Amino acid sequence: MSLFELRNVSYRYPGAGQSALEGITLDVEAGSVFAMLGPNGSGKSTLLRVLLGELETSDGSVTFSGRPSDSWGRREIAMEVAFVPQAEPMAFPMNVRSLVEMGRYPHIGVLGRMGPEDRAAVDGAMERAGIMDLGGRSIRNLSGGERQRVRIARALAQEPKILVLDEPTAALDLHFEMETFELMRELTEEHSFTVVVATHNLNLAARYASRLLLLSKGHIEALGSPDDVITADTIGRVYRWPVLVTAPEGLGPGAGAPQVVPLSHDGSTSSG
Ligand code: ADP
Ligand code: MG
Repeated sequence: MSLFELRNVSYRYPGAGQSALEGITLDVEAGSVFAMLGPNGSGKSTLLRVLLGELETSDGSVTFSGRPSDSWGRREIAMEVAFVPQAEPMAFPMNVRSLVEMGRYPHIGVLGRMGPEDRAAVDGAMERAGIMDLGGRSIRNLSGGERQRVRIARALAQEPKILVLDEPTAALDLHFEMETFELMRELTEEHSFTVVVATHNLNLAARYASRLLLLSKGHIEALGSPDDVITADTIGRVYRWPVLVTAPEGLGPGAGAPQVVPLSHDGSTSSG
């Protein structure tokens, strides 16, 4: 059984002229990294919210663990799935550790008290996200990348089985971007997590995800293994830019995964 099953799903924002998603049919299997790719505005964030049951589909059906996703209660789903949205306002002057502790909400309730297990989960999550030394800092004074790692820590503190991440590495430098993708692999391989990630990093998605979805203007342009989806023709067409696709050796796990190199606009890599 698939973890998420979407059948012919469409979604139109209230008042919008056209659908943000159209005719989406896909399955997300448990225990792997599933990456959603696509240009800006192609529908990645909308699709994540449809998966999570936050947006009610205009057409088609969505099931999570075999049950219609709109039949899941908020807290019930939060025991299973943690979501790191693309961006969120952080208005409250809260310290980092308190924000990570909010990830324990589904376990202890709004008025519940943190017990030893909760504190251990928070410590573990902060360590995994590499933010042990930020605990006392105000979330307002963090860099974009630090804030992003704090939000990932909050999701891990929730101790979910499924992690849904919307462009988690957009604000991160190379080191933390790699740590984040390595973490995704570790969570799926060692802890049988399922990770669903929307990203613009085609090359890391091709190395770290076992299945890719490429969206274009709200419909599925390609769906399958990295080799199926990352071709010069498909990527060039969808992103409207000529690219070369290579399969370099020596990348470690994921070696042989297709890697995209954008060409100069005249379609040539040589300077002469
Ligand atoms: P992506 O995450 O791939 O950049 P989105 O899912 O955010 O794409 O957006 C898909 C389409 O839906 C875009 O055309 C966007 O302008 C539109 N859209 C996104 N959010 C809203 C909203 N709240 N109301 C109306 N249209 C929206
Ligand atoms: Mg988005």
